[in-house]
Amino acid sequence: MGDRQTTGPAIRFEDVAKYYGDVAAVDGVSLEIAGGSFVALVGQSGSGKSTLLKTINRLIAPDAGRVLLDGEDVSAREPHALRRSIGYVFQNVGLFPHMTVGENILIHRRIGGTGARQEGAGDAGHLLDMVELPRDFAARRPSALSGGQAQRIGVARALAGQPGLMLMDEPFGALDPLTRDTLGESYRGLHERLGLTTLMVTHDMAEALLHADRILVMAQGRIIADDTPDGIVNGTLPEAAEALVAVPRRQAGRLVAMERSRDPGA
Ligand code: ADP
Ligand code: MG
Repeated sequence: MGDRQTTGPAIRFEDVAKYYGDVAAVDGVSLEIAGGSFVALVGQSGSGKSTLLKTINRLIAPDAGRVLLDGEDVSAREPHALRRSIGYVFQNVGLFPHMTVGENILIHRRIGGTGARQEGAGDAGHLLDMVELPRDFAARRPSALSGGQAQRIGVARALAGQPGLMLMDEPFGALDPLTRDTLGESYRGLHERLGLTTLMVTHDMAEALLHADRILVMAQGRIIADDTPDGIVNGTLPEAAEALVAVPRRQAGRLVAMERSRDPGA
């Protein structure tokens, strides 16, 4: 799989809503995401992030509104073909334990049946290169992987179908902070090189600020802030969004204060 010339698709939400009884999981979301951008969707648990994400690949059908990919209503697309064309990575990637890592990476191609014809889609070895793991990992079982390695395999599996769009739902959420940061950096590089459009759900504002071009803050099914990382940090936010930024701000402030107290001469 060589570097891509094209840029992943643009996404457009038009007044999208999804209800569970009295709960509006998604409550009238309208917005556009430019092809090639890296957008983080941030919010507290239960704010509707996963539900909104899943309306794109039709894991969830909205009760109102529509979702367009490059101008085409996703509800007009055959769901399985649509899902094969979109990379999807989530927490605890769910690798099949009885298959090798290599087989897991190429699983959708096997199930889908169309992949064999995809010129240059890359073998498992090439996909392992992309996620910076040794090629001999292809012969391992998933049980022989660390959490971070397993998430890298999840990314490789998502890239096997040569998607233009990557949907990531708390992809590194279960990892320790250092591994998480390394994977975030590494994925950001892939996003650039492959010209992907990435929509990444995270509850971690610091992660969003470090990796995304644009941050959407969600609360109670609505988008309550939509800005660049700079705008989020330096702008005026609604209270619920400011509360999320306050966490990394406070942590950074404490660390700086501790450094000064360690070396008062500095
Ligand atoms: P997030 O990903 O931000 O944590 P979700 O999109 O998973 O939030 O959920 C948004 C809201 O919708 C929550 O109140 C959640 O309880 C509710 N919800 C999500 N999925 C279902 C479901 N299958 N049945 C009932 N309620 C659901
Ligand atoms: Mg979620």
